[in-house]
Amino acid sequence: MMISDAMNAKLNEQIASEFAAAHSYLAMACSFDGLGYKILAKRFFAQHEEERDHALKILRFVQEVGGSVALEVIPKPQTQYASAADIVNAALESEKKITEQVNAIAALAESEKDYATRSFINWFVDEQVEEVASMAELANLIELAQGNILQVETRVRHDMMAKP
Ligand code: MG
Repeated sequence: MMISDAMNAKLNEQIASEFAAAHSYLAMACSFDGLGYKILAKRFFAQHEEERDHALKILRFVQEVGGSVALEVIPKPQTQYASAADIVNAALESEKKITEQVNAIAALAESEKDYATRSFINWFVDEQVEEVASMAELANLIELAQGNILQVETRVRHDMMAKP
C-alpha cells in the first residue's frame, strides 16, 4: 500500500463526505423542484452528479494506491427548506466544510511526506475554490434579487448554457 492507514481512513471519510454532499444536493434539487424553481433544481441535480464523481475519483485513487475502500453510511439529508435562500446558504456552508476536510487531507499528506496523495488532492483544493466561489455568487444573487427567484433562475440558466 502506497498510503498510510491514517491516510486510507481519511480518504474513506472523504468518499463518504462526497457521497453525503451528492445526496444532500439531490435533496436540495428536489426541494427546488417542489418550490417550482425548475432551473435551480436542474443546477443542483447537476451538482449532485458532480459530487458523486468526486467520490468515485477518490475511490479509484484509493484502489490505485493499494488501499482498502470502506463505504460508510450516508446520513439522511435535510429535505425540508423554507426558501431558495435557505437551500443555497446550506450548500455554501457545506462547501466550506468540505474545503476544510480537503485541506486537512493535504496537510496530512504533507506531514507524512505522502507526495502521491498530496499531488492527487490538489485537484480537489482547486475544485473547492471554484465550488465555494460559485455557491457564494449564487447566494449573493439571491440576496440581490430580493425575493425575485425567477430572475435568479434566468441568470442561472444563462450561466449554465455558457458553461463549456
Ligand atoms: Mg465535492
